[in-house]
Amino acid sequence: MANYEVIIIGGGPGGLTAGLYTSRAGLKSLLLERGMPGGQMVNASLVENYPGFPEGIAGPELASLMHKQAIKYGLEVKTAEVTGISQRQPHYSIATTEGNFEASAVIIAAGSEYRKLEVPGEGRLSGRGVSYCATCDGFFFRNREVAVIGGGDTAITDALELAQHATKVYVVHRRDQLRAGKALQERAIAHPKLEFIWDTVVEEISGDNVLEGLKLRQVKTGQQSSLKVNGVFVAVGLMPNSQSFFNIIDLDDAGYIVTDETMATSAPGIFAAGDIRTKSPRQIAASVGDGVVAAMSAFKYIQEQTSVTS
Ligand code: NAP
Repeated sequence: MANYEVIIIGGGPGGLTAGLYTSRAGLKSLLLERGMPGGQMVNASLVENYPGFPEGIAGPELASLMHKQAIKYGLEVKTAEVTGISQRQPHYSIATTEGNFEASAVIIAAGSEYRKLEVPGEGRLSGRGVSYCATCDGFFFRNREVAVIGGGDTAITDALELAQHATKVYVVHRRDQLRAGKALQERAIAHPKLEFIWDTVVEEISGDNVLEGLKLRQVKTGQQSSLKVNGVFVAVGLMPNSQSFFNIIDLDDAGYIVTDETMATSAPGIFAAGDIRTKSPRQIAASVGDGVVAAMSAFKYIQEQTSVTS
């Protein structure tokens, strides 16, 4: 007998939505989350593209509302880090830092984490001028000069947010075109505090105990230069938190979980939802949709298993 009918790994929008649906469907459901519920949402000062909130909503508030709604219907939530999944026919055993749990079906919604630049100085100066979260740390750079690395939606959103505190925000991007959406690009290019440094990569983050600046290289000319800044915000994308699952389900070359349109993975009874899934658009609304589909597929799977064994 499994401890639970469904175990959901990860408490971001995909996981919380899956938990809401499995609990409302009457399945005994456990959600395992290693940190605060909400996932990447909690780092967003304002979410403007989640339907139902025409004025936008703060990420932490949206996360708290989703959590509240899911536990209202009986979802159990435990703080634990998942270290692996193994099959113990006909169930799955989930190994965590808080012990093992068993379930008939598993929904992996473990999301992704910040990609690092992997340059000298980054690790040493992390938290001493190097940050991955403008919403969390931007205020510390009031009236200072900062750089944002990257050209995607996160980098440009961060740069605009930092411009509310800093006197100057450099955006260092490895190409001469931004990946960010058009509306964000237009706001950023027009912003008087933002200065773009195109076709440029960071070679080193310098400073002894506290960040002093960046060593840069222009990729077209090879020319090296230094940029004095008090803070650097690395916004070069995300990496899937899939390291614990590679032995049981198929991942793509970048480590994202491969699913079909029912959110089924290569292992029967294991489903995936949200950012961790291959080709996910990495939007809160899309993760919510994945969570619904994964929960309904898990429900169907459990019903089929029950009818086979009874
Ligand atoms: P992203 O879209 O993958 O962009 C990463 C950026 O970092 C790209 O500009 C990339 O350059 C650059 N980059 C990657 N590796 C690098 C390296 N080693 N050195 C220097 N630059 C590097 O990641 P994201 O901006 O975090 O966004 C992730 C997802 O969340 C996206 O789907 C995005 O649309 C979504 N998102 C949406 C919003 C919103 O408001 N709608 C806000 C935040 C995020 P290249 O362009 O050359 O590849």
